[in-house]
Amino acid sequence: MMEKKRVYTFGNGQAEGKAGMRNLLGGKGANLAEMNLIGVPVPPGFTITTEVCTEYNETGQEKIVAILKTDVEKAIKHVETLMNSQFGDVKNPLLVSVRSGARASMPGMMDTILNLGLNDEVVEGLTYKTGNARFAWDSYRRFVQMYGDVVLGMKPANKGDIDPFEAIIEKVKQAKGVKLDNELDVEELKELVAKFKVAVKTQTGKDFPTNAYEQLWGAICAVFGSWMNERAILYRKMEGIPAEWGTAVTVQAMVFGNMGEKSATGVCFSRDAATGEDLFNGEYLINAQGEDVVAGIRTPQQITKIGSQRWAALAGVSETDRASNYPSMEEALPEIYQELDALQTKLENHYKDMQDMEFTVQEGKLWFLQTRNGKRTGGAMVKIAIDLLHQGVVDEKEALLRVEPNKLDELLHPVFDKDALKKAKVLTRGLPASPGAACGQIVFFADDAAKAHAEDKDKKMIMVRIETSADDLAGMEAAEGILTARGGMTSHAAVVARGMGKCCVSGAGALNIDYQQKIVEIDGTILSEGDFISLNGTTGEVYAGKVETKDPEFKDDFTELMQLADKYTRLKVRTNADTPHDAGVARRFGAVGIGLCRTEHMFFDGEKIKAMREMILAENAEGRRKALAKILPYQQADFKGIYRVMAGCPVTIRLLDPPLNEFVPHEEKGQQEMADSMGVSLRYIKQRVDALHEQNPMLGHRGSRLGNTYPEITAMQTRAILGAALELKKEGVVVYPEIMVPLTGILYEFKEQEKIIREEAAKLFAEMEDCIKFKVGTMIEIPRAALTADRIATSAEFFSFGTNDLTQMTFGYSRDDIASFLPTYLEKKILKVDPFQVLDQNGVGKLIRMATEGGRSVKPDLKCGICGEHGGEPSSVKFCHKVGLDYVSCSPYRVSIARLAAAQAAIENN
Ligand code: PEP
Ligand code: MG
Repeated sequence: MMEKKRVYTFGNGQAEGKAGMRNLLGGKGANLAEMNLIGVPVPPGFTITTEVCTEYNETGQEKIVAILKTDVEKAIKHVETLMNSQFGDVKNPLLVSVRSGARASMPGMMDTILNLGLNDEVVEGLTYKTGNARFAWDSYRRFVQMYGDVVLGMKPANKGDIDPFEAIIEKVKQAKGVKLDNELDVEELKELVAKFKVAVKTQTGKDFPTNAYEQLWGAICAVFGSWMNERAILYRKMEGIPAEWGTAVTVQAMVFGNMGEKSATGVCFSRDAATGEDLFNGEYLINAQGEDVVAGIRTPQQITKIGSQRWAALAGVSETDRASNYPSMEEALPEIYQELDALQTKLENHYKDMQDMEFTVQEGKLWFLQTRNGKRTGGAMVKIAIDLLHQGVVDEKEALLRVEPNKLDELLHPVFDKDALKKAKVLTRGLPASPGAACGQIVFFADDAAKAHAEDKDKKMIMVRIETSADDLAGMEAAEGILTARGGMTSHAAVVARGMGKCCVSGAGALNIDYQQKIVEIDGTILSEGDFISLNGTTGEVYAGKVETKDPEFKDDFTELMQLADKYTRLKVRTNADTPHDAGVARRFGAVGIGLCRTEHMFFDGEKIKAMREMILAENAEGRRKALAKILPYQQADFKGIYRVMAGCPVTIRLLDPPLNEFVPHEEKGQQEMADSMGVSLRYIKQRVDALHEQNPMLGHRGSRLGNTYPEITAMQTRAILGAALELKKEGVVVYPEIMVPLTGILYEFKEQEKIIREEAAKLFAEMEDCIKFKVGTMIEIPRAALTADRIATSAEFFSFGTNDLTQMTFGYSRDDIASFLPTYLEKKILKVDPFQVLDQNGVGKLIRMATEGGRSVKPDLKCGICGEHGGEPSSVKFCHKVGLDYVSCSPYRVSIARLAAAQAAIENN
């Protein structure tokens, strides 16, 4: 039988591996092999397979070295021949790097060793070869440090201690009176190496290995061993990567860009990662090491002439100064530039995506060290996908799959100016509840905000609250952004802000708010009303002072992408909107209906709240009916406004859901006002308010329980919903109202509501001598409703999954209090993600699937959708497609994200 192949070499345009062998060679190994095969010069080397990692873990170091010895020595010879140097040679040394590379990317989880092959003699050879003693000794001390840490386990003795090598460096620097590592001269670097070795001997009891092969075996085994280190194990668990995959080890010749004026090093991109412009760009430095480009010690120069000229214009450098002191690579090393340009085009065409590449020029010879698909901004992402489509590099489906839905967010909200952000001070962090950037003066109370806004429309404010409630709407509307100390991703503040497309940071626990003094203390900083702060709702960061923002711009490529999405999608995207404004925004983003219109805010403004309070505090049904009659015209007008915007579309309106306690006045002043206007005693009002108090209002008197105990509310809302539609019908505006009963748990709970709705509708139609088609359905947001969906569907005409409540009740986590333990749960990896943001497919998702199947088993064409916050989260949208829902409904600013995710789901599942 043929011996199993364990070592795959590459170099000089040949490779035993290829891109398709990712499983065996890891991502890095496969990519390096592929670059060789397509004619991109990479330093030669070899990859030891992922299978050997498993063997290593089963049999241990000694056996693995014995098994690999012949193959690895042969592979090193191969590298020596191609590099024309010798491993461990004193005069002409070959140095290598040893790196890990699993089939899935595991950034920073495993170990790497550079400059391997150095010892006290070889370092002299390197000095001779490079003519640069400082470089040689600096490489050597880095190698001893890295090897000591990774292979010899020289870690800090105790948790609080600093790294043993860093401690030595600090001492030497102090003695020499210098601050930075790069201020150390050759003699001092020599001193460091000597001290490092003593430390190794003291801590491990062994001498630092001087033999190159001994070093190599130590490094190979350490990299294999790092597959089983604690952080790698944890990372695999989180990402669902099986332990048996193993890591490959790649050993590769080191090349140096600091061997004189014909050497250089740089980083380049095949397109502009910030704007997406199809323009090759990047930075380089002559006679430098890779890390010098990023370290900022020297000013890196631009690769292309046009890039260099653009840079000079921005930096205020004259053309003469630029040309003589900061020439582009295109001008300074024209031949190498030509080669680089041709190769970057080749790589982009090969991988069919924008490439981020690292290269080194060693004495006039160009080497690629790495290529990968480049990271990019949201704007660049869309432009690149559409450009690649137009250029014939990818097809429509591929172009759609190239765009990360969540990153579209960057295109839809105001953003911070990048330069301004660099200078800003982060005060604290909360949850990124509603994306975008906002900056303004602190205001604590809704009425103050509304008043200030009425006086000065241009005044920018940030509303700072412990938490918000429906009472705060006017203030939230007036503010640029909202910051709360408590509350999770589905807290009132978060949901409302997302609906408004307003930036919000919620659950920032470091905030200590004193409403009385109108101050907030954040980790020792005290801010008062009127002080400026800035919020980044995309990251959850809170900044001191003003950080300038800028508006997003819509480009043609975005519109084209969205049209393309609609071509492939099956799942419809509706919106959660309660005002004509929000509905209008969502329609512009392409929503094809309203999936959830929450009606509670329609009871709040001005006169409405008074009538609502009268209704709640009334002694009997008659009193309630009277009060509700006052609200009816307001609600009807509100619905008309929304219908007009949504002409031709289905509009799902949910009956009143929150506990009544949220509507009554809790301070004496408001209670007295109610007593006066109703002609009853203050004591009576107090008693009624107290009686409405609940220990656990989320599980209390709300949802369909309200409509069943106060049927007058359901009747009034039905009349407003259908009455508005009938009035618009006369104007020629057609809408399809869908009346939705909240929080159903029992079939009869729904049936009772349905009866009231249908009776009121019949009455109204008779009065108006006209009728309209409408549907009556329910939210599925209580586990029992999901479990008995086949019964509920015998009556309900549609289901809409309210995954905020369904998540709350399935996990038993209060959606308003999760912020107190969520950070710890995420840190401990008990939860991978916040289940209120990303649908829990295993648990909550199972209920959705079961309920959809159950419902359709009795009503095959039952319309099913989702209207919880998950309806705008890409992985949740994709799940909804898979279980066969008809639509998702999300806040207006997420409509584009959901449309794209829905299209991707259709493509991926075909
Ligand atoms: C839900 O529970 O998912 C829902 C949409 O309703 P609300 O967030 O208003 O409770
Ligand atoms: Mg709900």
